[in-house]
Amino acid sequence: MSEAAVTTRLDESAVQELAAGFGGELLLPGDEGYEEARSVWNAMIDNHPALIARCRGTADVIAAVNFGRSQNLPVSVRGGGHSVAGTSVADQGLMLDLSLMRAVIVNPEERTAIVQGGALWSDLDREAQAFGLAVTGGHISHTGVGGLTTGGGIGWLVRKYGLSSDNLIAADVVTADGRLVRASESENSDLFWGVRGGGGNFGVVTTFTFRLHPLGTMVVGGLALWPLNQAQHVLDFFRAYADRIPDELTLVLAFLTAPPLPFVPDDLQGRKAVAIIVCYAGDLDEGLRAVQPIKDLAPAADVIGPIPYLAQQTLLDAVYPHGHRYYTRTDFLDGLSDEGIEILTAAADAMSAPFSTITFQHYLGAVNALPADATAYSHRDAKFTIFTLAQWASAADDAENIGWCRRLAEAMRPYSRGAYVNFLGADETDRLRAAYRPETLERLQTLKRTYDPQNLFRLNLNINPES
Ligand SMILES: Cc1cc2nc3c(=O)[nH]c(=O)nc-3n(C[C@H](O)[C@H](O)[C@H](O)COP(=O)(O)OP(=O)(O)OC[C@H]3O[C@@H](n4cnc5c(N)ncnc54)[C@H](O)[C@@H]3O)c2cc1C
Repeated sequence: MSEAAVTTRLDESAVQELAAGFGGELLLPGDEGYEEARSVWNAMIDNHPALIARCRGTADVIAAVNFGRSQNLPVSVRGGGHSVAGTSVADQGLMLDLSLMRAVIVNPEERTAIVQGGALWSDLDREAQAFGLAVTGGHISHTGVGGLTTGGGIGWLVRKYGLSSDNLIAADVVTADGRLVRASESENSDLFWGVRGGGGNFGVVTTFTFRLHPLGTMVVGGLALWPLNQAQHVLDFFRAYADRIPDELTLVLAFLTAPPLPFVPDDLQGRKAVAIIVCYAGDLDEGLRAVQPIKDLAPAADVIGPIPYLAQQTLLDAVYPHGHRYYTRTDFLDGLSDEGIEILTAAADAMSAPFSTITFQHYLGAVNALPADATAYSHRDAKFTIFTLAQWASAADDAENIGWCRRLAEAMRPYSRGAYVNFLGADETDRLRAAYRPETLERLQTLKRTYDPQNLFRLNLNINPES
């Protein structure tokens, strides 16, 4: 699309009026910084916003929301820019970029953190860990707090402390009419229920207030690796082990290509492998005892032991770098069948891109301790997610990698169910009914009619107020 075509969509005097009181930056196509600001983690996303509003604070967010509404522009919200679907970059619309809003203020006495809507998990982790505190964040520290929390939030502390959103005390939300609304158990509790799992449908969260937990600065973490030809054995162990571990221990199993790192034996480097990655949030000696069965399985490489929590939180960051091409399929599983294990092992064997991964994230624990309707997040009773993430470098390889990912999801369909809002791809806008329980969806639609009847915030897994 030409730049002229984009800019003609905007009312210049309205843009000037917005600019007059704007504290952050307004970027039009062609402006310095525009290309960088529209680029997100997934290089497959190549959308061109008509205007990028890089907000510095709540006043900017209110002004930008009012502008988007009055100009009838689709509005997208960029937190960490990590969604595979690229929903944060409005093509020909208004991109509300919160990446200048990353402040985190921890109150160590009260064990709370006030976190701006554009912060990354690394921002929150660093501030909280200065006081030995933590809250469930994502497995990758360069993910945004905004998208991850509004969709649910799964990470290394999930079995012990629940979802990220389960630890919210309050959220300040700029709604479609440009009002700042506080959502908590005691104020606008319906909205508070909805922002914990309903995605970005109800407005822009300018600050999240989290409850923090006294974790200390060390956990038992790290990973163990086996060659792919031992996958059957490892998965048999994993499914039985996952059923008997304490809630302090959270597990991820991953099919990947063994990295060329010093702890990996030479003959495994660059070959397909299966990994178990752990985090024990509690007493270190008890943690070491809890993970001993993994060590007893004679891994080819094993770096499981006491590590700083901050190292655990960044352990996998380099596996998912910015700027590669990504495509995903994700489902929930109630268990791992023998047939499922066979399908997965064959798919891992067929994985052509060395960066692609298939991961299993294990939950229950504190997630399932809350009632099914406690928040809008709808899959508290699922045991695992299977997150297949194809990752490659060149557009020439798009078809091959997308095909691999889709074939695996299709083959696993008989064994899987549901959908996780946060893991949906750009071509999965039809999965609303898989993402929510029917009662939850009905309640979310009522909420959408209250807070965003014109569907201003529709660039997400959209809850349509009309249907
Ligand atoms: C490699 C990788 C690893 C991941 N690991 C995990 C994981 O361990 N656990 C997990 O739960 N998820 C995980 N995710 C999924 C992740 O939670 C989602 O991609 C999430 O949307 C990322 O948040 P973000 O702010 O970075 O996203 P963005 O792309 O910036 O935003 C995505 C959407 O979130 C909404 N949004 C963002 N910020 C705000 C805000 N402040 N107010 C209102 N709405 C907002 C908007 O609707 C926006 O379209 C992972 C994703 C990837 C790609």
